[in-house]
Amino acid sequence: MSDDATYHKELLTADCQMNHQNPQKAKTGKLSWRGTLTSVQPRIRLLRSFDERHHTYLGYVLRVQGAIDHEEREFAIGIGKAAQARHQFRYGDLVSGQSSPVADVRREPVEFYKTSTLAVLERSVAFQSRQSPCQGIPPELPIYRQRGHRRLDANTYKAKCRSCIWGCRMAVEIIIDQWNPDTKRYRFETFCYGPRSCPLYRAGATRKVPGRKGIVWEEEDWVDEEAVAHRGVDE
Ligand code: SF4
Repeated sequence: MSDDATYHKELLTADCQMNHQNPQKAKTGKLSWRGTLTSVQPRIRLLRSFDERHHTYLGYVLRVQGAIDHEEREFAIGIGKAAQARHQFRYGDLVSGQSSPVADVRREPVEFYKTSTLAVLERSVAFQSRQSPCQGIPPELPIYRQRGHRRLDANTYKAKCRSCIWGCRMAVEIIIDQWNPDTKRYRFETFCYGPRSCPLYRAGATRKVPGRKGIVWEEEDWVDEEAVAHRGVDE
């Protein structure tokens, strides 16, 4: 099992345990939560069809260390771009809200979404970590699109990049056969939108995209190089 698959299984297991404990709330009601933001990153879904890819910019991911429905743990909340513009969430903020479990966990990089009653209870002071270059307020979504991304090793993401505004763990849908687009496979991939000079960056293995009749597209290094070629190494 890949690192990304293991990581997502951990999230699913935690989510399933919670749903088992509170089946009625999980089905019908929003869950109250409160905690400290351990990261704010873009919430993006990637659609792959062999060598083609299309991004859907859903909003932002708030990763929270705190309590949801009275259970202490880390969890991921999906919000829209308007909520981020209004609240300007950043690493270290103490926040609260109410959210619903996602309907299809394969298509979302978060466990909860449809968030309401969002509030910043305590604003963090500006924070600059020695570990990660950027833990401030993330930019608007068009900036991510304009910057472009490089693939990011899943283990590096877990160990070094989870709190960086330039890190992104995308939900990926893969259309195997373009003549049968309703049949899809799902997985998660991690990417870096940050400066090419970041010393923490590790590309990891190239990504392979399955296609018709067992043919596989390998996304080689030139794809990443082309995607960020318009930026200087420190941008
Ligand atoms: S590699 Fe990218 S995502 Fe990770 S810390 Fe550096 S800039 Fe951030």
